[in-house]
Amino acid sequence: MELNILTICYLIGSITFILGLKMLSNPATARKGNLVAAGGMTIAIIGTIFLYKDEAGQKLHNYIWIFGGLAVGTIVGVMAAKKVKMTAMPEMVSLFNGMGGACAALISIVEFNHLTSGKNEIDLYLTGIPHGQLLIILLGLIIGSVSFAGSMIAWGKLNGSVKDFSFPGQHIFNIVLLLLIVGLATFLVINLNGSNAFVFYIILALSLLYGTLFVFPIGGADMPVVISLLNSFTGVAAACGGFLYDNKVMLTGGILVGAAGTLLTILMCKAMNRSLANVLIGSFGAKKVAGPGAAPGEQGAYKEISLSDTAVVMSYASKVIIVPGYGLAVAQAQHACHELEKMLEEKGVSVKYAIHPVAGRMPGHMNVLLAEADVSYDKLEEMEQANEEFSSTDVVLILGANDVVNPAAKSDPSSPIYGMPILDVELAKTVIVNKRSMKPGYAGIENDLFFRPKTSMLFGDAKKVLQDLIAEIKSL
Ligand code: NDP
Repeated sequence: MELNILTICYLIGSITFILGLKMLSNPATARKGNLVAAGGMTIAIIGTIFLYKDEAGQKLHNYIWIFGGLAVGTIVGVMAAKKVKMTAMPEMVSLFNGMGGACAALISIVEFNHLTSGKNEIDLYLTGIPHGQLLIILLGLIIGSVSFAGSMIAWGKLNGSVKDFSFPGQHIFNIVLLLLIVGLATFLVINLNGSNAFVFYIILALSLLYGTLFVFPIGGADMPVVISLLNSFTGVAAACGGFLYDNKVMLTGGILVGAAGTLLTILMCKAMNRSLANVLIGSFGAKKVAGPGAAPGEQGAYKEISLSDTAVVMSYASKVIIVPGYGLAVAQAQHACHELEKMLEEKGVSVKYAIHPVAGRMPGHMNVLLAEADVSYDKLEEMEQANEEFSSTDVVLILGANDVVNPAAKSDPSSPIYGMPILDVELAKTVIVNKRSMKPGYAGIENDLFFRPKTSMLFGDAKKVLQDLIAEIKSL
């Protein structure tokens, strides 16, 4: 009877994961989707703690450890989620993803010890090596450790504490390392005996090294793809745990995370018009055209526009498209932006937002930001849709965006963002760019758009500029 209730708990967990994922695909239902999936997970966890019985009919008994771990995890999780700034969200995703990978690797270590502890060569010969179980343990170990080490490096890179690093031949070295790991794992699955169990820990060390070296050289604009890829690794590693314990909900959850991460990786590569191999290997030869310290204005002169002129140009336009970027998030200017939109609409100006798939610092960053300010979803246009509309637009107002409107992506094969589809803002009659200086964006490259005849620069912090602009428009 208890087993049946547990099965029902797992069924509810699996269904809520699927429903939650579906709801996450729409900004209007995303928040609820997260709660639905978390609720399902809670039911599955509570069911496991109180109803699970092992083959000998034993229930779980180490409640102090279980609830101690749950309490620590809950406190850390709640505090981190409350404290984290929207712009630091990718770092947190990376860190939490790394913890998932570490969990999967730890499960493999524990289960390997169960398998081998106290057994010598003869014992293992007599009981036989459970090849299938060992294979899953090793898969969980390798994928989980790669995901953990890679996510930690990605986390460090995003918060600026780890710099890009590569050495000549690193690509070949990584492939050899991976082959070595696969070779040792195959050897162990076939030949495990009491005296070669240490090879397991060599595989662990090499996997951690591989995860580190794999992410180290990848930088700049390619980080979101790597994080999504590592996320899918963690999903697969968790699914290995599901196989190991014959736990359906762990298996379903792992497979869903693995599949979602893989799909997101593919979609992001598509959005940047690059293959995954190019993202992972391309970084080796990536050259930055100009660093953050590059002298401004090397490409010629740019022109500035005053607040009052901007107010006039925008008020008398019939169609305005706003392009939000990372700077809007940093300035927390989404509410002021929505206010400007409402004010212009009252004046009969049609206002829309053009959302680039990698604007900001995480997938969907701009959608979340604008949703926070109650911007209506039907005002958000995806890149392809917006690109069709720019030619009939009077004014494009770029708020703290840079790389996603950089024409070098189309015209300069030596640019690290070459090939990435961009918002064709230049098709509009007038382009106004708000940022604080002429410094480059995330990819560290100068932007020729700022020097083009149709473009005018409106310098200042996005929130302050928008507030002043609203006051100017009011006074017209
Ligand atoms: P960028 O990082 O290219 O540019 C942001 C610009 O905002 C900067 O040039 C900066 O200029 C300006 N800015 C910063 N603070 C302010 C402020 N307070 N007020 C006004 N402007 C400000 O952003 P984009 O959104 O155009 O592009 C995103 C980049 O990040 C892409 O390269 C993308 O690949 C990458 N990325 C995306 C992720 C994702 O999943 N979306 C994740 C990780 C990276 P200044 O200093 O002069 O003000």
